[in-house]
Amino acid sequence: MFATLSDRLADTFKQLRGKGRLSEADIDATAREIRIALLEADVALPVVKEFVAAVKERARGAEVTGALNPAQQVVKIVNEELVTILGGETRRIRFAKNPPTVIMLAGLQGAGKTTLAAKLALWLKGQGKSPMLVAADLQRPNAVKQLQVNGERAGVTVFAPEPGNGVGDPVAVARTAIDEARRTLHDVVIVDTAGRLGVDAEMMQQAADIRDAVQPDEVLFVVDAMIGQDAVSTAQAFLDGVGFDGVVLTKLDGDARGGAALSIRSVTGRPVMFASSGEKLTDFDLFHPDRMASRILDMGDMLSLIEQAEKSFDVAQAEKAAAKLTGQGGDFTLEDFLEQMQAVRKMGSLSKILGMLPGAGQMREQLENFDEREIDRIQAIILSMTPAERANPKMIDGSRRARISRGSGTKVSDVNTLVDRFFEAKKMMQTMARGGGIPGMPGMPG
Ligand code: GDP
Repeated sequence: MFATLSDRLADTFKQLRGKGRLSEADIDATAREIRIALLEADVALPVVKEFVAAVKERARGAEVTGALNPAQQVVKIVNEELVTILGGETRRIRFAKNPPTVIMLAGLQGAGKTTLAAKLALWLKGQGKSPMLVAADLQRPNAVKQLQVNGERAGVTVFAPEPGNGVGDPVAVARTAIDEARRTLHDVVIVDTAGRLGVDAEMMQQAADIRDAVQPDEVLFVVDAMIGQDAVSTAQAFLDGVGFDGVVLTKLDGDARGGAALSIRSVTGRPVMFASSGEKLTDFDLFHPDRMASRILDMGDMLSLIEQAEKSFDVAQAEKAAAKLTGQGGDFTLEDFLEQMQAVRKMGSLSKILGMLPGAGQMREQLENFDEREIDRIQAIILSMTPAERANPKMIDGSRRARISRGSGTKVSDVNTLVDRFFEAKKMMQTMARGGGIPGMPGMPG
């Protein structure tokens, strides 16, 4: 996502590097570049115009302060403007005072609604809620079944009409479901409604009828981010036909150029509330405009990373390793390296994690080609070492390398690479621990 936009903006900022102050011509040129970058990312024209005008105006008026050079100031301004068009604050679900809170999902077929319903339910469960899914999509063959399967995966109750009774009345199903939720003490009800392949009056009417019947606390419009500008026009149609309180962007893991994410809030006046980014039920989170902006600007999304790390990391173990790396609490060994790698793997796909780190933009291509099996290989190599070798990799000489490669079914050159990389990583971590920053990486702007 956003790859081209990120690269384009990075190029734009590069032109400003080393300038002592910005001339009117610099500002004009920058504004032009940003405009092209946004248009190429499929951002809606009125949004682009507004954005560029704001950046231009602020860049002109920017105070020359000691802290930031002009290039950094522009980055800062663009970052702040991106946060603004993405919606500013993270918008959270408003839970009803009297449960159940009713959340209704609307959107086109294929937008990812059914998947999203289960993701949202699982996420709510993680927040201590007791959600119930309601299959009110009786249009699409299989939709009920699919929701049941997803609900089971998420470990949540699914309320569905009896099988074989496919043409039932979705309004009645939704209404009955709310009563059932109240009776069975489910505090959130998520109603999945039918979508069509295109915007269609009958679908809108049905969604509006369900809305009137269940009086949802939140109507969420679910939209595939990959459809770019079409997402905006579809959103507009749903806003007119059904109305909604917030947007869920799905398929952010795809190669969407970003147009939908950047335009939808400004065009509809409704915030993006959640982002869905993969086939797994856990590939889902609140949408954080500030983090998304820094991801676009390729400053990395450290916050997301930290949050994710906290969820799956063994803090004590990580602290122990960190202490060792900085030279306290013993020496960092290959054993620790292995433990770290296994911990990292628990956090999710490595390329995804690396993608959130600052400067990852330049490594994007390598990341996309990154082979997760590489970790298996590394693991096999380390496991083929004796405890003494793991504790003191310096002792791994030629004949030991040959033995390890045989034991792990890898090439001697793989073992060499691993040992070299280990020493390099160790050196780098120690430099960072001394406050030297990541070698070879530019400092964070702003
Ligand atoms: P619905 O018709 O709106 O209910 O859409 P579905 O939930 O059936 O999703 C349509 C397709 O998109 C399915 O193949 C899903 O697995 C896939 N899908 C849903 N969400 C995501 C996502 O965030 N990322 C990716 N890559 N695929 C998704």
